Amino acid sequence: MHTKIKNLIPLKKSLGPKGWIEDKSTIEPYLEEERGLYKGKAKLLLKPENTKEVSNILKLCNKHNIKIVPQGGRTGLCGGTVPSNNGEEIILSLERMNKIREFNKTNFTITVEAGCILSNIQNITNEKHFLFPLSLASEGSCTIGGNLSTNAGGINVLRYGMARDLVLGIEVVLANGKIWNNLMSLRKDNRGYDLKQLFIGSEGTLGIITSAVLKLFPMPKYIESALFAIPSPDAAIELLGLARSASADLLNAYELVSRIGMEMVLKHIPGAKEPMKNKYQWYVLIEFSSSNNSLRKQMEELFELALNKNIVLDGAIAESSQQRKDLWVLRDGLNEAQKPEGASIKHDISIPINNVSKFINIASTCVEKYIPNSRVVAFGHIGDGNIHFNISQPVNIDKKEFLDKWENINKLVFDIVKDLNGSFSAEHGIGKLKRKELKIYNPKIEVNLMKSIKLTFDPKNILNPGKVL
Ligand SMILES: Cc1cc2nc3c(=O)[nH]c(=O)nc-3n(C[C@H](O)[C@H](O)[C@H](O)COP(=O)(O)OP(=O)(O)OC[C@H]3O[C@@H](n4cnc5c(N)ncnc54)[C@H](O)[C@@H]3O)c2cc1C
Repeated sequence: MHTKIKNLIPLKKSLGPKGWIEDKSTIEPYLEEERGLYKGKAKLLLKPENTKEVSNILKLCNKHNIKIVPQGGRTGLCGGTVPSNNGEEIILSLERMNKIREFNKTNFTITVEAGCILSNIQNITNEKHFLFPLSLASEGSCTIGGNLSTNAGGINVLRYGMARDLVLGIEVVLANGKIWNNLMSLRKDNRGYDLKQLFIGSEGTLGIITSAVLKLFPMPKYIESALFAIPSPDAAIELLGLARSASADLLNAYELVSRIGMEMVLKHIPGAKEPMKNKYQWYVLIEFSSSNNSLRKQMEELFELALNKNIVLDGAIAESSQQRKDLWVLRDGLNEAQKPEGASIKHDISIPINNVSKFINIASTCVEKYIPNSRVVAFGHIGDGNIHFNISQPVNIDKKEFLDKWENINKLVFDIVKDLNGSFSAEHGIGKLKRKELKIYNPKIEVNLMKSIKLTFDPKNILNPGKVL
């Protein structure tokens, strides 16, 4: 054990064998994330069971200058949970802090601990006929602490907002071990700066989130889903305005799917079915939800109206929950279906809605010119301006030759994003992966403000060093 880390031994007894782990093989899975982009070293894994234990750990770490890497479900994919290679950092996993502290149906709130798995929170609220709308493909393993620390998005952002919009209060342990209990359930609170928002999205660099009060919503009783074929991404933007009006803003998903992506899904994802008789270049998956049973009529009226305006070419409205699932397979399978097609270079970017189709057109043309026969798979949450702009390697070229162009492709894509007033990082965090881009694309004044905030909250730089900044 590293000499500095020995200073934590007084905690060993109180944390107990479930909270103090030195066994190499138990620690091993905590040293990397799913994609395996980075792997680090650590000799000690701590799993506190409550906020007081987190506080005790941070107090000692701060005193002895021991660096800490916080972890939730390790689904972040940007290296935010991976310790450095010097083996001097300890891992602090919140996974044992997984209690529901309070369910308050009058307030429409639930108070949860940071280690609660997102899908468990959804299930508990659904059983009580409430909705917690945060929903991502990793929901079976990511934790609410990780969701808040990365300000997660997912499929319902258009209607309900990002993770930061779904929080009323948080409890945080600061770098010096002090506990800030801000577990408020107020919808209105203007007592000075909104400090909780600084911790949300800070990827464990400013404090350890131990608990949160989350907003709940009434569970919609009816859902109407449809896939519309459209002539271009431009049409998707025009249709978005019509869909918002037609449904009186009951739109909870609006996802772009391209033909090339759909071909990959049809080829590689079991159960995926061609949705219409004819094939089209672009599609949007639209979903309305409400407690009011008039959605079908609204969807049909939207379809008629858009057909007459030539912004929709064809459509399939789901007639059953099975058909709804079949439509979602075509969207949800897109990431998985790209894997057997060889290497891919991915960008998760956001663009103001009015510039989205311009971005897709310009960036696709530039990428295809730079790497002839590369396959651009642009898809995703177009309703909130978030596009997954993924590039699959040309068939029959060497994987390495393609991946060697990663940095140049990133520059090409992110420069266009910047010109169109977008963001190079719509979802996930910065972690280790996008630190360089943060320096290049964020205005200097912003980076300097971030640095001074970090210095104020964590003057000894013990919290997740080497991440974000
Ligand atoms: C298949 C798949 C689909 C995904 N889809 C989406 C998506 O649609 N939208 C999206 O936004 N993301 C998505 N993600 C990314 C990821 O799931 C989210 O970033 C998620 O919020 C991370 O939660 P986690 O518990 O796994 O956090 P981790 O990966 O464990 O941690 C993420 C960061 O937060 C820090 N951290 C974790 N817990 C705490 C805490 N309690 N206090 C302080 N810091 C903490 C870590 O140090 C790290 O920097 C996806 C990932 C996968 C694998």
